[in-house]
Amino acid sequence: MKYLKKENNIYSFSANNEASIIVEEGEEFILEAYDCFANQLKDSDDKLSTINWDNINPATGPVYINGANAGDILRIEIKDINISDHSVMVVAPGEGLMGERFKEHQTKIYKIEDNKLIFSEDIEIPVSPMIGVIGTAPSSSSISTGEQGEHGGNMDCNIISKNTVLYLPVNVKGALLALGDLHAVMGDGEVEFCGAEIGGEVTLKIDIIKNEKLPLPLLENEDKIITISSANNLDSAVKDSCDKMLDFLINFTTLSSVDAALLMSAVGDARICQAVDPLKTARFEMEKKYLKYLKSK
Ligand code: CA
Ligand code: CA
Repeated sequence: MKYLKKENNIYSFSANNEASIIVEEGEEFILEAYDCFANQLKDSDDKLSTINWDNINPATGPVYINGANAGDILRIEIKDINISDHSVMVVAPGEGLMGERFKEHQTKIYKIEDNKLIFSEDIEIPVSPMIGVIGTAPSSSSISTGEQGEHGGNMDCNIISKNTVLYLPVNVKGALLALGDLHAVMGDGEVEFCGAEIGGEVTLKIDIIKNEKLPLPLLENEDKIITISSANNLDSAVKDSCDKMLDFLINFTTLSSVDAALLMSAVGDARICQAVDPLKTARFEMEKKYLKYLKSK
């Protein structure tokens, strides 16, 4: 299986990036990833204030997918996420929703043992590995790996995990996909600026969808369809994720627009992905058991 090491990484999604690896449609491959601090925080004495901020959110790639052309959609199957044996979290003055409450930088290193994050003597947290940053190159200019958008990016959606399918746009030939910012576990909102940051390996399989319109980024797992939106504030992000879901339901299920909107209100869930970056990210979740599809996706 092809394996791309973590040293092959980018800090912005751009059409000008050179591909680090070429894969075929349907081929499984592995991307190794640094943690979001590029492994600069090795113990609790290392502080966020002293590391190189140019090396935040490295994304391993770019991956060139043979046959992907602008206008296509990538169907990205996350086959597996293997995380390392320790995770790092930080409290940083001014960062996160409670950052003003803290005067000093703090770094905590947690062991991962038997699929649990050892938070303290009393608290063990089952890990739930996820991908914070995953995206494709935009058609023009470049987008920092710390930002979010239709291309994906730093969505910090904790559903982007093993056995999930993520749909992203192809804006340039080959798509130039990259990913990083793995979390051992992260709550909705990522409220204090970080998840349980960790390095690891991600196994992907990518297919190319031609001549289809989907509200992107779109997620699918065994139980749910999920739309994702990022905007200047959470209100706008939530509204946009609802509009995307309504569009999806109208186009791909047998529901009328009235029934789709009411069903969303009855059984759909508006949730927060992350509330700590300049753009905020929300998602809307619908359980598939309520949906009768016109076409199988
Ligand atoms: Ca992130
Ligand atoms: Ca992170």
